[in-house]
Amino acid sequence: MKIEVVTLFPELVEVVTRSGMPRVAVEQKALELSCINPRDFANNRWRKVDDRPCGGGPGMVMQAEPLAQAIETAKASLGPATRVLMMSPQGERMDQQWFQRLSQEAGLIVLCGRYEGVDERLVTSAVDVELSLGDFVLSGGELAAMVLIDGIARLLPGVLGHAESAGQDSFVNGLLDHPHYSKPVAWRGQAVPEVLMSGDHARQARWRLKQALGRTWLRRPDLLENLELDAEQQTLLREFVAEQKEGGGS
Ligand code: SAH
Repeated sequence: MKIEVVTLFPELVEVVTRSGMPRVAVEQKALELSCINPRDFANNRWRKVDDRPCGGGPGMVMQAEPLAQAIETAKASLGPATRVLMMSPQGERMDQQWFQRLSQEAGLIVLCGRYEGVDERLVTSAVDVELSLGDFVLSGGELAAMVLIDGIARLLPGVLGHAESAGQDSFVNGLLDHPHYSKPVAWRGQAVPEVLMSGDHARQARWRLKQALGRTWLRRPDLLENLELDAEQQTLLREFVAEQKEGGGS
């Protein structure tokens, strides 16, 4: 996948591919990231791409023309049908389903706003989707774009070490992930749950599913409302709930 980020701070966005999964994705050539600076399309010698808001009010607004030219340049290299995503607190909330859907695309153009935002005429004429990181206001779209790139990079084919690893993650199957343990088996007086040391793979799989269901019930009951649990899942969740009520909790 090729991602072109339109940003006034390319050096900030490029950091996302220096470590972790995005770096692996780039090394494996599953991901190619480049940035386009709208200042390169400014029509003045100060490379200024913002101006005062029409009608007054505080701050500055990113002007439409340099952003339009930056997007056109990105489309010239990625193809005219490439989707343009704008980072915006007013957009649809990014979630795992968004990352999964977007990871199927061959290319994406990601637009990062700054200041008070972007001239609305550019948004209505050149942006396909506005995406938000959450109900708060950041000073720029770059951090949101980096979150998006990280979330997508780890889903690209061949990037995660274990093929199934992403399949167990929270939200992928509608549930939160189960808890994880590693060595040593006894740590500061706390043992790893006995079932995980039993070598009984079927029991372990049931334990993982039960914990995933239980955690979701405890922490994000809203997620369960969207799921149709099968008979085994219902039994496991009932067991988990009963154990909680007994005060066992495991
Ligand atoms: N005046 C705007 C906020 C501008 S913040 C408003 O109230 O809606 C400047 C830029 O930061 C935005 O254009 C957007 O690109 C980015 N940004 C801020 N908060 C964000 C969020 N929660 N998610 C994604 N991008 C965000």
